[in-house]
Amino acid sequence: MKYIDEYRDERIAGGLVNQIKRRVTRPWVLMEICGGQTHTLMRFGIDELLPAGVEMVHGPGCPVCVTPLEIIDKAIAIASDPRVTLISYGDMLRVPGSRTDLFQVKAQGGEVRVVYSPTEALKFARANPDRKVVFFAVGFETTAPANAMAVWQAKREGLRNFSMLASHVLVPPAIRALLSSPRNRVQGFIGPGHVCTVMGYREYEDLIREFRVPIVVGGFEPVDLLEAILMLVTQLEEGRAEVENQYVRSVTYEGNQHAQRVLGEVFEVCDRKWRGIGEIQGSGLSLREAYADFDADRIFGTSGVTAEEASECISAEVLQGLKKPTDCPAFATRCTPESPLGAPMVSSEGACAAYYQYRRHLVAAGSGRH
Ligand code: SF4
Repeated sequence: MKYIDEYRDERIAGGLVNQIKRRVTRPWVLMEICGGQTHTLMRFGIDELLPAGVEMVHGPGCPVCVTPLEIIDKAIAIASDPRVTLISYGDMLRVPGSRTDLFQVKAQGGEVRVVYSPTEALKFARANPDRKVVFFAVGFETTAPANAMAVWQAKREGLRNFSMLASHVLVPPAIRALLSSPRNRVQGFIGPGHVCTVMGYREYEDLIREFRVPIVVGGFEPVDLLEAILMLVTQLEEGRAEVENQYVRSVTYEGNQHAQRVLGEVFEVCDRKWRGIGEIQGSGLSLREAYADFDADRIFGTSGVTAEEASECISAEVLQGLKKPTDCPAFATRCTPESPLGAPMVSSEGACAAYYQYRRHLVAAGSGRH
């Protein structure tokens, strides 16, 4: 298959559903890691086509959702400085901090701008030498190389009015944390296709040796996901635990080594807090000492900022696959995309936003299914 339509072909998808039905002899709980995969499952109703024995739970692979509250509060504090132009991706503006969000800071006169890439932030910094330009960089291994490149370029140019508030997170330590939890229910993972395009899938082999849980790197179209689910249930039914690659049109075993080199040049691994989940050892990236002059956290003295999560939002349980968005008492009532209480309802990759957008609360109310 070469074109996108083929990955949405009903006939091929139906054939895969039938193969999954024939394969499954007992219940399995599978997790898709990426928020983009969650949205495809919901949008195309794939979760409802699967046999009752296959339960899909949704993982922590939504960068906006896992960005810790205290980083949002730091961004808000920095953006409130009249000398600063804070630049980020659109989703970040509506994520609630402890007391307000970046959108409110902008409404009250703070200079907050939305871009599609860090290159635009660099361009703005070059054109506005009188402004302190801070790029708020969140995301997984997928976006980290472009952000690393921006800092590398800024250093090379001696661009002293540019800095970065970085909150990057890494997928394998998050999977390790999920599997180490006594509450874990997940028996197989659909791996994150975009992350693996950069990082390859070699690093998942250790996890499989340690936990004996299959991981199939999957794409983002309906046929990709159904094929990945078939590969997972086949492994589980045969008692195998291996890393396999469904997303062969994008992912190689070693990944993009040039991107990995840039990443390693600018960032180093650090412990990182995940929103709602808490600190996961070795699960983040921070700027190396050689790039300290571009670290907004140091420049603006926000490294001591701490924050507590709102008690009503159960996003921690949702992001660990322990609960579904429809289990949250606030879902679609007090928490909606127009008035979000938690990040998974804000982000275009959030599980709560996916359930809301594709009206799963109405399905659940009508059928008793969650
Ligand atoms: S529905 Fe809203 S309050 Fe509930 S878990 Fe999702 S984001 Fe949090």
